[in-house]
Amino acid sequence: MRGLLVGRMQPVHEGHLEVIKRILEEVDEVIIGIGSAQLSHTLKDPFTAGERVLMLTKALTEKGIPASKYYIIPIQDVACNSIWVAHVKMLTPPFKCVYSGNPLVQQLFKEGGHQVTIPPLYNRKLYSGTEVRKRMLEGKDWESLVPSSVFEVIQEIDGVSRIKQLTIKEVNEIK
Ligand code: NAP
Repeated sequence: MRGLLVGRMQPVHEGHLEVIKRILEEVDEVIIGIGSAQLSHTLKDPFTAGERVLMLTKALTEKGIPASKYYIIPIQDVACNSIWVAHVKMLTPPFKCVYSGNPLVQQLFKEGGHQVTIPPLYNRKLYSGTEVRKRMLEGKDWESLVPSSVFEVIQEIDGVSRIKQLTIKEVNEIK
């Protein structure tokens, strides 16, 4: 059986990897949809879809998850929620069940006739994309919240400087 997990993964952190490992205890293969693939270079969505694919691929390898167990598919948003499930299905291999903690995602897939499960979260307060991005901005320890391979990708693309630059840009736009 194949399952689907969709998330923006801005950036990939230890919580995502833990959720993926748990899902793989229930299904044979997991499809990981990188949500809002068109977005990058904002404080909420700093990293491109390609950068997120790189983070995820390297982190899954680091955790010893074989490539035969997953598919990583970038998924752009669409203007109409009512056609989003069809849009996702057009881009992904077939799947039976969906894993999501996002209420809108749950509702849309349930209405589409899919079995939806809320995945158990791993130390949610600490492991969240928002917390990682906040710590990057404040110069606090964010490295311990992400796999070391993700840390290396963020170093390679100079991700922390990007986020700091974006703050300056967004503050200037408010003025
Ligand atoms: P999201 O809107 O990206 O994230 C919302 C929050 O939920 C984030 O803080 C995320 O944490 C958190 N989260 C992630 N997995 C969770 C879980 N299992 N339980 C509780 N909270 C969890 O939502 P998402 O679920 O990660 O991603 C959904 C994607 O689908 C988004 O890209 C969204 O735009 C897309 N979508 C598009 C349409 C459309 O185009 N019309 C419709 C519906 C959904 P982290 O930041 O730590 O990951």
